[in-house]
Amino acid sequence: MPQTSTPDSTALRLPSGKTAVVKIRTSDRARNVAVRILPGVGQAELVLPRRLSRRKGLAFLREKAEWLEERLAKYEEPVPFQDGAEIPLLGRFLRIDHSDAGRADVRVDGNALLVACPKARISRSVTDWYRREAGCEIASLAKQKSAMLGRHYGRLSVRDTTTRWGSCSSSGDLSFSWRIIMAPEIAFDYLVAHEVAHLAEMNHSARFWTIVENLSEDCEKGRNWFRYNGHELHRYGLELSTSGDRESE
Ligand SMILES: [Zn+2]
Repeated sequence: MPQTSTPDSTALRLPSGKTAVVKIRTSDRARNVAVRILPGVGQAELVLPRRLSRRKGLAFLREKAEWLEERLAKYEEPVPFQDGAEIPLLGRFLRIDHSDAGRADVRVDGNALLVACPKARISRSVTDWYRREAGCEIASLAKQKSAMLGRHYGRLSVRDTTTRWGSCSSSGDLSFSWRIIMAPEIAFDYLVAHEVAHLAEMNHSARFWTIVENLSEDCEKGRNWFRYNGHELHRYGLELSTSGDRESE
């Protein structure tokens, strides 16, 4: 069985059958136990006063499961790339700040992603920017990790895959979804380590996992992040449908 609870988080079963990973923060200052949603991230956090037992805190959390699921559902709505949208880059959030301009230019400025282009091109410009960022970051990490492993990879491609975050072919070509650049660093790092490890072991054996552990910062955390939160990366950049009989807003 995979380990689903760590000292600072717990896996909570929601009424729908889904699982939510809830952070647990022990606090000296808090007087009462409380559950809240971390803004921007959309992850739940249980604040546990130090004098209260973990067991009691978890019981409180379970009572709140229904409330929590309703609140979390809000974070599953599509986030189109448009002016004002909050979008993740390696776990931190940037706000799209659009200005009209003839030629596309996208760059990070503090917590803003400055996007200069015609309005109709925002989504395309931001997607292209993500792909470039992903390409650079993945290549530099894959180089580093494959060197650690003493193996070479063939071609490296960045795609918009929907079913897999990454893959490694038998000829040593690596392929990744650009969306992994939106994940927290520890998860991003794990995913690259996973595919690079396949250069040595084309399977998911114990030997393979030992290599992944050696190549990643925190294999367990990274893997769990994708297991419980990976689906969230697909909601970014989705266009709200303007046709059909469904209201999009
Ligand atoms: Zn694999």
